[in-house]
Amino acid sequence: MNLRELVPGWQDLALCRHYEHGGIGTFYNTSPDKTELAMMRRVCGICPAQPDCLAVAMLEERDMGKSSRFGFRGGFTARERYALSKRWRYNDEGGRSDG
Ligand code: SF4
Repeated sequence: MNLRELVPGWQDLALCRHYEHGGIGTFYNTSPDKTELAMMRRVCGICPAQPDCLAVAMLEERDMGKSSRFGFRGGFTARERYALSKRWRYNDEGGRSDG
């Protein structure tokens, strides 16, 4: 996926907008407990915006180290996204390919 393929207005499809975890289109809970994390994973698992949400998160964070990332976005914790970033390569249009 690259940024040109994002669904316009994907944030409007974000299921997390209906939950009280702050932010629009993303969960910005930096330290969820087990119950919250399980709920977030379930919501992200059925969210129609998940591919776009994850793509944007990965692009925004692509030059960030592990400790600079926060929040639960696109179905992944900050630590999980960091691990994903080690396997992804990005092109100039914001696209990715598995490395
Ligand atoms: S994938 Fe998860 S964090 Fe991203 S918009 Fe959907 S519900 Fe929110």
